Formats: sequence, C-alpha cells, structure tokens
Amino acid sequence: MSPYEKTYEMLWDCEYCSEKKLLGLSQRFCPTCGGPQNPAKRYFPSDADKVAVEDHPYVGADLTCPACRQAMSRRCNNCSNCGSPLQGGREVAMRGQEQQGQGGAWQPRDAGPMPPQGAAPAPAKKSRAGLVIGLVVLALVVLLVLRATLKKDAEVTVSGHEWRREIAVERFDEVEDKGPCSSVPSGARIVARGKAEPTCTTKRSDNGDGTFKEKKECTEAVEQCTYKVERWKALSSVKETGGLDREPVWPVLRLREGTCRGCERAGEKTEAYKVSFTGAAGKEFSCSWKDAAKWRAYTKGAKFKAKIRVVGGDLDCDSLKP
Ligand SMILES: [Zn+2]
Ligand SMILES: [Zn+2]
Repeated sequence: MSPYEKTYEMLWDCEYCSEKKLLGLSQRFCPTCGGPQNPAKRYFPSDADKVAVEDHPYVGADLTCPACRQAMSRRCNNCSNCGSPLQGGREVAMRGQEQQGQGGAWQPRDAGPMPPQGAAPAPAKKSRAGLVIGLVVLALVVLLVLRATLKKDAEVTVSGHEWRREIAVERFDEVEDKGPCSSVPSGARIVARGKAEPTCTTKRSDNGDGTFKEKKECTEAVEQCTYKVERWKALSSVKETGGLDREPVWPVLRLREGTCRGCERAGEKTEAYKVSFTGAAGKEFSCSWKDAAKWRAYTKGAKFKAKIRVVGGDLDCDSLKP
C-alpha cells in the first residue's frame, strides 16, 4: 500500500436556516437563505459524506475580514462582502488534526497543529476517558501521600524470627522466541517466517480554507521470524529456611554443570531476615532485612514503639524504637 494524500471539502451547517452539510470551499453562502458561512463552525464530514476537491491549489488558510468578520480566501485582496482591504485580517480557527483508529472512528490527535497565529485557540475538547484517568491518578497520589504521612503510634512485641536463603537454578536449553528476522541471534534455528503486514494510519488536518487534507501513512513491513535458540533460562529455585535456633545456611545445589543442553547453573542468590511483631489486640506485623546482625538484635519478647500506617495498616519498619 502506497501513501496517498487527498483533499476534501469541510462541511458547515447554516446558522440562519435548517440547511446542513454545506460545502466549506464551494459554498461560502447558504444557497437557501444566503446566510454567510461561519468558518469557526466547519467540521470534518463522515466518510460517507466526503466530497473530493480535484486539483486544489492551496494558498493558505482563510482570512477573517477585519471589518465585517466574513471569511475570505487568501486569493482575495478585498472583502467581497463589504469591500474592506483584508490586510491585517486574522486566520480563521481550524479543527485539530484527527487520526483514524481501529474500527474506522476518527479521534483527535494530541500532537495536533498549533492554532494559527493571532487566532483564538479552539477550546480544547477534554475527552471523558482523559477525565477518568486524571481522577484515578489523582486518587492514587492522594492515597500515596496519606500512606506516607498518616501514621498512628503503637507498641509492638517481638514474637518470632525467620531467615530465608534462596538460590535460583537455571538450565541451558532450547527455547522458542519471536522477533524481526533481521535481528535473530546467531546460532538460532528459524522455524517459521511470518508474513509482513505494514501498519497504516490515516490522518486528516484542516487546511483552513474550507478543505481538509487526508493522508495515509504506512510503516515499513517487518518480516517476523519464529526461531529456536539455546540459552540459559530460569528453571526453579532451592531454598533453606529456619529460625533463631538454626544458623542461616545456603542451600546445597546438586547441578549437572557444563554448557550442554540440559546443563544447569546457579542463578541469583537472595536472603531475607524477617522479624514478626504482635501489636494491640493480637495484630501481626513483620519487617524484613537483608542484614542478619540487625535481625538478631531484636530479642524475642522485647517491646518497641512504632508507627502504624493508617492507609494499608502495616508497620513502618523504619520507625521501630526500643
Ligand atoms: Zn441558510
Ligand atoms: Zn468584509
């Protein structure tokens, strides 16, 4: 599919009678009542109502007559309505750029063209979806702020200790992956090639002279490959746990070492030292550290002053004080 660019008439509805869908370029006055076209009320037609303009010489957006406010083509030197010179007339307001989405519906584009110089910017249409997203984000921010600031004092008692040491195990194996054929890793075996489909978007923008331009742009088609390649991948993990009564140890791995298919190796090592606390009314809390010495320092049965977050109801582990 090759890109194309076509020019069509914008439409307008007469403000003085019931005439609708008049042509922006060819009908500057209502054929029924003679009422003048208001360029600020021009709109994009539906795909069914599109009227093409052949060999349209574009000379720029219309100017508003400084004397009678009638929109005039840039080709004119003087207003055909009142005779005033058009010099100093402002450009008419234009519709924002739109993009055709899936299903063929037209949506405004965020990165539309700037409003013409001197013209009042068209009022931004806030979409309902944008408003909902904004409210959700605002609510989340408020919750985060409340979580960080709203805390109540409490007394907690150390009730238990647990350590956990874990080592991930990886296996060298054949895995299937997908990607552009141009970036298949070396040593990979291609098992399938996907038909390349370009993605196209159609955009339309107001020319400001009663017409608009529709342009289709397609991205280059990228051929997709499915391939098999040997690489290390996560297989499982082995862990050891215990309390204060057992010295922390790393789990012992029995691996089939090497770089054969099916060979194994140790992956990431992680350790965590958790202290459990009991608060008022038997409520349980816990804090985890990576430092075993810090963990041991919390003697079982010892009481600590602490802050409990009102939002979330958990213990602020940095607030613990004897
Ligand atoms: Zn009319
Ligand atoms: Zn005029």
